[in-house]
Amino acid sequence: MENSVRKTVIIGSGCAGLTAAIYAARSNLKPLILQGHEPGGQLSLTTLVENFPGFPEGIQGPELIENMRRQAERFGAEYLTTDLLSANLDEDPFVLRTANGEIRTETLIIASGASARWLGLPNEQALIGHGVSSCATCDGFFFSGKEIAVIGGGDSAMEEALFLTRFATKVSIIHRRDHFRASKIMLERARAHKQIEFVTETVVDDVYDVSKKEVTGLRLRNVKTGESWDLPVSAMFLGIGHIPNTAMFNGKLDTDQDGYLITRDYVFTRVPGVFACGDVQDRRYRQAITAAGTGCMAALEVEKFLEARGE
Ligand code: NAP
Repeated sequence: MENSVRKTVIIGSGCAGLTAAIYAARSNLKPLILQGHEPGGQLSLTTLVENFPGFPEGIQGPELIENMRRQAERFGAEYLTTDLLSANLDEDPFVLRTANGEIRTETLIIASGASARWLGLPNEQALIGHGVSSCATCDGFFFSGKEIAVIGGGDSAMEEALFLTRFATKVSIIHRRDHFRASKIMLERARAHKQIEFVTETVVDDVYDVSKKEVTGLRLRNVKTGESWDLPVSAMFLGIGHIPNTAMFNGKLDTDQDGYLITRDYVFTRVPGVFACGDVQDRRYRQAITAAGTGCMAALEVEKFLEARGE
């Protein structure tokens, strides 16, 4: 690992981090992007992206990410695959301890994202992109005229289910309890919708059918009676929350009760020179385009920060 001090380091190689990288690279800051165990972020887990402006026919999520990656590289961005173990933000320059050694940097852009929570079913991961999804706005369109299931009992699940009624003939909301975390208004809206059916006190034990490379149904179990049955559906959407990737900043930066970084004026954290962008600080919009937007803002603020220091 080189000993020189970096102008900026970007943690995360999803849409926010790579957009920050493009802007920082074009400002001659030679950004170093640390990519961890989910390179490319959530876009790399989706299939066709149809709502990112500029692609009238849509673009595959992994291809969009690869394009951004190459775009930043063309202007001098560098990539390092490593896990960030800890960050010392009290020192100037900041010191990042990684699996590959220490990195010192004048500024830091945190774009470590949020990971969708999955159920952990044996066949779930193999069917992601083939009917298993955590993003209704990304993938709902592919299930026009089909019956689908949404898992969860919070606002995300209600919102996904309501959105999916535009395409699906029927949406079954599967929730493990008979009480809901969802706000009253969202719950009532979902309950009033004639295409939505609620299946409560029920968990998913399996998702079929890996051999066909598509979702054909779910194995459900009522937690009170123990009764099991199959529900034929063409897709399973998870609405069971996201986990922001902020563990390494616990106690160093402000987070809300669920661990999302708190920012002011879009991308400023409480530590001067440390900026946050994308899903790690956004629990509301969570779109590729909004992540890209805040990634751009973070890089512009880095530039201003360094300029104010006379660099
Ligand atoms: P959430 O409120 O934490 O709800 C997660 C849901 O998933 C809960 O019903 C939970 O069940 C269930 N769940 C979690 N792990 C599970 C598992 N392993 N198996 C089965 N079910 C599981 O998360 P969220 O819905 O993503 O909302 C997060 C925050 O964003 C909330 O503050 C919400 O209000 C906000 N939000 C707002 C909007 C909006 O206003 N339009 C839209 C989306 C999100 P239990 O209840 O049994 O724990």
